[in-house]
Amino acid sequence: MAKLSDPVTILRGVGPAKAKQFEALNIFTLGDLLCHFPRGYEDRTKLLQVAQLEVDRPACFRAMVMNTPRTNHIRKGLDLTKVQVADHTGRLSLTFFNSKYAVEHLEYGKEYIFYGCLTGDYAGYGMTNPIFEDIDSAAVTTRRVMPIYPLTAGLTNAAVLKAVRQALSICDPPREVLPEAIRQRYGILGAEEAYRIIHEPRTMEEAAQARKRMIFEEFFVFSAGLSLMRAARAEKKTAPYENTDLSPFYHSLPFTLTGAQQRAIGEILADLQKGAPMNRLVQGDVGSGKTMVAAGAAYCAAINGKQSALMAPTEILAEQHFASLSQLFAPMGITVALLTGSMTPKEKKQVREGLENGSVQIAVGTHALISESTVFQNLGLVITDEQHRFGVGQRSRLSAKGTDPHLLVMSATPIPRTLALLMYGDLEVSILDELPPGREAVDTFLLGESYRPRINAFIRKQVSEGHQCFVVCPAVEENDGLDIKSATVWAETLQQTVFPDLRIALLHGQMKGAEKEAAMAAFARQEADVLVATTVIEVGVDVPNATLMVIEDADRFGLSQLHQLRGRVGRGKAKSYCILTTHNRNPDTIQRLKALCKTTDGFKIAEEDLKLRGPGDFFGSRQSGLPAFHMADLSFDLEILKQAQEASARWIEDAGTQDTPEAAALRSRVAELFSRAEGTMN
Ligand code: ADP
Ligand code: MG
Repeated sequence: MAKLSDPVTILRGVGPAKAKQFEALNIFTLGDLLCHFPRGYEDRTKLLQVAQLEVDRPACFRAMVMNTPRTNHIRKGLDLTKVQVADHTGRLSLTFFNSKYAVEHLEYGKEYIFYGCLTGDYAGYGMTNPIFEDIDSAAVTTRRVMPIYPLTAGLTNAAVLKAVRQALSICDPPREVLPEAIRQRYGILGAEEAYRIIHEPRTMEEAAQARKRMIFEEFFVFSAGLSLMRAARAEKKTAPYENTDLSPFYHSLPFTLTGAQQRAIGEILADLQKGAPMNRLVQGDVGSGKTMVAAGAAYCAAINGKQSALMAPTEILAEQHFASLSQLFAPMGITVALLTGSMTPKEKKQVREGLENGSVQIAVGTHALISESTVFQNLGLVITDEQHRFGVGQRSRLSAKGTDPHLLVMSATPIPRTLALLMYGDLEVSILDELPPGREAVDTFLLGESYRPRINAFIRKQVSEGHQCFVVCPAVEENDGLDIKSATVWAETLQQTVFPDLRIALLHGQMKGAEKEAAMAAFARQEADVLVATTVIEVGVDVPNATLMVIEDADRFGLSQLHQLRGRVGRGKAKSYCILTTHNRNPDTIQRLKALCKTTDGFKIAEEDLKLRGPGDFFGSRQSGLPAFHMADLSFDLEILKQAQEASARWIEDAGTQDTPEAAALRSRVAELFSRAEGTMN
């Protein structure tokens, strides 16, 4: 018996060359191979008669070859072989391109099973390149459900299938991780059976069952992993914070906190007094005042003699937080320091010394904060801003910097509840569902191309009043196939032909990190009037002087993303506007965009988005920080997700931490999943 960890080269017919091709699919071992699931199936089980064949519906049929195949050499590299076949219901003309195999195997007067797709036009019906087998051969390519695998150059579907079959015959599939009781309750196939069926189902129904099991397992392992992390944290002990009198902090604020902010801080204080590490997410729309909630938490840590680290995804955001926090805390005698990658080694060294000897209480920074050389004297609280940029793995790396510090993550991406559970299953959640008073909504309009002159005039008006504008384009560069605006070209056009007298700047995701930051910082310093950008501006920088955002080809974005973008304006005192443009005339698209013009409630928009577009927008590879699911597609499998979450929650409660072999297998699968995930996050 072979092992799952054995290399694919132990299979017959898999030499070094084949192995290289498998490698391109990330398949190294038999285990990898068995986990290379079909992306779909072709139902070749139905055997029709020739007269029953329908155009564009591939099917099998049994027919006799009615003449000797005739091959015409059309030109170099193109041979056409034609042959007539028939059964008692009808006759059909088959065409093969460059098929030596057909020429050599199809015999006049013999019957075969064919599988192909009827095509037809005014000139009559026919079929091109059908697959065929002898009627008495085993059903390998016809009369069966055919798995269709993801492939790579040189590797055929048949070769993958052959290797998989062989692997299944010489080794046992991966171990069962789903408890029996759960499998029964949710009608889930066992592992052994599922691995066989997913590669060789007898019917489409079987294939669907096997697929469901794999998806269920993925979700189950993931949610169980999050629950285990949560349980493990709850077991840890930390000294409860004794001093929770925040009145000096409240008194030094230039405003009164909103009810939502007070509630969130209250929840945080309760966590800090518990004696176990806090693990909390603060979710609030752009502008809801998350920074002050974080500041309250950091203040509480400071008066209890603990250091805090606030980690932001970009340097400029870190600088912004540093500016506002040091202004707030300096009068209270609390020292705030900034640590970013672009500081000089000497500056960094100085800050690190302060962190190590405890003279700095609050550190604000980027990834530099979690680098090896940063040592804290007494790190008690870790805050990450704009959480969606940091994965589960990074969160835990940061916590490793202290002895189980409290964790607070802040996210501006409103996420519907089901998805939040998936992304933040290991976190408690506080929601800021209230904006500070006096904040005027950003007026949003949807305009067609005929409004272009007026849009341009409006940009000019804002600039002439001393304000700045964002123009967001869906693409970086021109793309032939697509009629959408690209930032590079549109910036050029605006500068050359529309606003030669204004200062137009450009910012997009293909620029280097430092270049991006410089462009953003320059805009924040009002060194440009109009910033033409891609969605890179979506996250966090405050430019209160920007009062207008024009989003070109808005139909290209998800509603939540548009909402997020729109949050970049309306941050100052002046009235702000957002203009969405589109060429799209699809009534559904128009309705979707109009919904955004009417509401400013991020959660409502997120729910709407989920309904209309599925969860893809929330789980874009960039922002999710989630492991890549192998099999599950979050756009279609939400129902299974719910079941798996329910199942894993129940199981963890009953048995999750027990020492059964199943629990051990599950724990090792969880560890594997999260370590794989870490590589793909960021
Ligand atoms: P976000 O939740 O998007 O991170 P910020 O924390 O950046 O929001 O706050 C947005 C702006 O609102 C900041 O200028 C901040 O000083 C201000 N702000 C925060 N809380 C309040 C409040 N309770 N009343 C008035 N202004 C507030
Ligand atoms: Mg913020």
